[in-house]
Amino acid sequence: MKNQEIPYKTYLTEQELPTAWYNLRADMKTKPAPLLNPGTGKPLTAQELTPIFCEELVRQELDNDTAFFPIPDEIRDFYKMYRPSPLVRAYCLEKVLDTPAKIYYKFEGNNTSGSHKLNSAIAQAYYAKQQGLKGVTTETGAGQWGTALSMACAYLGLDLKVFMVKVSYEQKPFRREVMRTYGASVTPSPSMETEVGRRILEEFPGTTGSLGCAISEAVEAAVKNPGYRYVLGSVLNQVLLHQSVIGLEAKAAFEKIGVKPDVIIGCAGGGSNLGGLIAPFMGEKLRGEEDYRFIAVEPASCPSFTRGVFAYDFCDTGMICPLAKMYTLGSSFIPSANHAGGLRFHGMSTILSQLYHDGLMEARAVEQTSVFQAAEQFARCEGILPAPESSHAIRAAIDEALRCRETGEEKTILFGLTGTGYFDLTAYQQFNDGLMTDTVPTDEDLARSIVALPKVPEE
Ligand SMILES: *Cc1c(COP(=O)(O)O)cnc(C)c1O
Repeated sequence: MKNQEIPYKTYLTEQELPTAWYNLRADMKTKPAPLLNPGTGKPLTAQELTPIFCEELVRQELDNDTAFFPIPDEIRDFYKMYRPSPLVRAYCLEKVLDTPAKIYYKFEGNNTSGSHKLNSAIAQAYYAKQQGLKGVTTETGAGQWGTALSMACAYLGLDLKVFMVKVSYEQKPFRREVMRTYGASVTPSPSMETEVGRRILEEFPGTTGSLGCAISEAVEAAVKNPGYRYVLGSVLNQVLLHQSVIGLEAKAAFEKIGVKPDVIIGCAGGGSNLGGLIAPFMGEKLRGEEDYRFIAVEPASCPSFTRGVFAYDFCDTGMICPLAKMYTLGSSFIPSANHAGGLRFHGMSTILSQLYHDGLMEARAVEQTSVFQAAEQFARCEGILPAPESSHAIRAAIDEALRCRETGEEKTILFGLTGTGYFDLTAYQQFNDGLMTDTVPTDEDLARSIVALPKVPEE
């Protein structure tokens, strides 16, 4: 297909919607390290995980070998309400940047929750329902995961209890109300409702909370309430598995128009959208069939890949969760409250951590004012108000395209536009008023939380 014949938007049909999720681990030569029991230092068994997580999700979590997991019809039917999502050629952005690069983005903001998180929320809620559970508990940071899960739970008739990071609970009352409209109960975290919440409040009075802390509370609430399990919106292998629907669709859409991307870029909080977007492309790279560049983009205020260490750490502040081997800033790291939006998690997916460690992926950190400059530039020409998280990927995509302008390279760039920013207008207001600042942790800040990493027996 000639360049000018490529449409602005490429959609797959409903029939072309993927019928199976792709498990990237099946093609990894070095598998991600297993989750460890913090008490014994031994790999966690399915038996130890099922009091916390749903059974089928545990099976998916621990399976490093099965390449494809069929998507149940009920989940595919739900997907059809908002998928396949479009692959968009950013002609207008290319023109503004005056670049020979070709820029594409996969847009995941076309649903009420406003992000890709619904792809895993419906899957996790479905398996909880299948198991006959009453409900699930979870944490939410900026609120997208809680919103997505509340939609999925409402659809399936499951009860949902959300622990919402306090700073977001206060700054994002509208998100909270969407969740409540869908029937979820929402508690600001840290709270007095759990033991771990009370402990954290005592130690850090006035804390604005963190994802790690909200996770501890949600896990405790699940374990203590019969008929409940805990679900998590990022980081875990199962979440990357569900999010592979993004990459599978993107790849099929590219094949439809006869284009192959050279560079694939995504923002990285816990790694689920990036892991899902790159999955089938990385699979080709791992099997030696194709080559691509992959770039993870993280905030300079919470730089797990670029300034963290690759080590076993807790996924939560309360240190009750399993240990995961990942790039981490230490579970006691609490990013500056000044940082807008999500991507505030101290750790990173074990799958992406291993790929990065093995040199199969690059990472870069960007500062928030430059992220909002990119968001503004994108919004003004492409007509979508991007989420601050997604705008990290936009920043890197623009930078790559500008580099192409200098070198004259006609690279094809794909980035994940994970969501919309309608609930992030407080951050946009700060930016528009010129009040946004960049907070970057000092080496001493990081050393303090990294030195507190748990001791794990050598493998
Ligand atoms: C949650 C979220 C992210 C970051 O999470 P990942 O698991 O790293 O994908 C990015 N963008 C949006 C819009 C989100 O809601």
